Amino acid sequence: MPQDVPHVADPALYPVRDRVLAGQSLTLDDGLALYASRDLHGIGRLAHHVRTRLHGPKVYYNRNRHINYTNVCALSCKFCSFHRKRGEEGAYEMPVDQVVHIAQGAAASGATEVHIVGGLHPWRKFDYYLDMLRGIRQACPQLHLKAFTAIEIVHFTRIARLSIAEVLVALRDAGLGSLPGGGAEIFDERVHAEAFKGKVGANKWFEVHRTAHALGIPSNVTMLYGHVETIPERVKHLIALRQLQAESLANMSLPVQSCQLPDTFVGAKSTDDLSTHDSNRRSNSYSIPLNSAAVPVNTTTRSAFNCVVPLSFIPEGSELGYLPRNTGLGDLKTLAITRLMVDNIPHIKAFWIMQGIHLAQLALDWGCDDLDGTVVWYDITKRKEHEGNHQELHLADIHRVAREAGKVAIERDTLYRQVRRDPATDQLISYDELVTSA
Ligand code: SF4
Repeated sequence: MPQDVPHVADPALYPVRDRVLAGQSLTLDDGLALYASRDLHGIGRLAHHVRTRLHGPKVYYNRNRHINYTNVCALSCKFCSFHRKRGEEGAYEMPVDQVVHIAQGAAASGATEVHIVGGLHPWRKFDYYLDMLRGIRQACPQLHLKAFTAIEIVHFTRIARLSIAEVLVALRDAGLGSLPGGGAEIFDERVHAEAFKGKVGANKWFEVHRTAHALGIPSNVTMLYGHVETIPERVKHLIALRQLQAESLANMSLPVQSCQLPDTFVGAKSTDDLSTHDSNRRSNSYSIPLNSAAVPVNTTTRSAFNCVVPLSFIPEGSELGYLPRNTGLGDLKTLAITRLMVDNIPHIKAFWIMQGIHLAQLALDWGCDDLDGTVVWYDITKRKEHEGNHQELHLADIHRVAREAGKVAIERDTLYRQVRRDPATDQLISYDELVTSA
């Protein structure tokens, strides 16, 4: 066998390997065969083959700060241990000033992104969210604002009586740079009815992200796995998000299997444009000097998914607390299968908050190329071993985790451009284009 053909021990996976090597998309049956196989190392080798073809030894991370502005929520999804009703013990709401203050602290410590999500607050007006983005944009123009899941966007359409597109345009004009991928859970009506009835279903989730892409707002997509879904429902979820990505890529006149996103976005092209670049815009083939002058994202730009984030369900504290946790082998398998099934989204994230850093490190050899970032504070879920909500991964640890795995840690921004810093002062110098190799 040629050296670059990954070894698989399970003959049932030979056709899957053939399709992976031929660069063909895997089918539902392929996904089921992967899940049915006990050849975990063979599956890992296949996923690592794809990951290495795309990214070599690079492991991406960013300096970020998560901000969960409230846990007060009108809904009560069964898998959620975060939500509270107003007045309930542990309920909290942050005024705009507090959110801006946290963002300022993040920017001062070198963050390039704030990741903002929260519950569906029943009484806050839409202006609160616009003021939040404007306030951060004004105080910290260098920060990329990745904010609001699809369910929050739909909530805003209801409280503001605006369409999805109108809400997104208003948020974008206030400073929104991209959408996180939360709220996707599992795209299946049965699972939706059982575990998160009341929350938007697949069609609405898709509509939000399809509209965002059409407006030039990039996004991510999650899969919350290991609760009430079956394996076929999980594989179908992965195929569904691959199909939406294919649609977005086709709208950008790209091959539907392309992972070459950085080349394709309309970005700064002239010297004039470079002088007004802001951190929310994607570059073409330029090293872009930083400039604090914020400009709106070009409305003629179309966009797509950057990253898939498989989230390992943590049952403790939720209404599904009786369920067993995912196991390490189950997590690794799902991360690897995600890489294999979703061949047109460039990055697969091992979100260390959910997987734990030990398993996230292993996952770097099972198809994952991204660790998320420093995070610092995370209210939504916590593993038993974390006592409080302060959940921070220090830069030295990120580099050590990557180094021990034989990889090279690369600081990226939200749009996966390499961040260059002055080694003496740690100050940002530029964002450079990062191009995947396939
Ligand atoms: S998952 Fe989101 S929408 Fe559902 S209860 Fe929790 S905070 Fe609310």
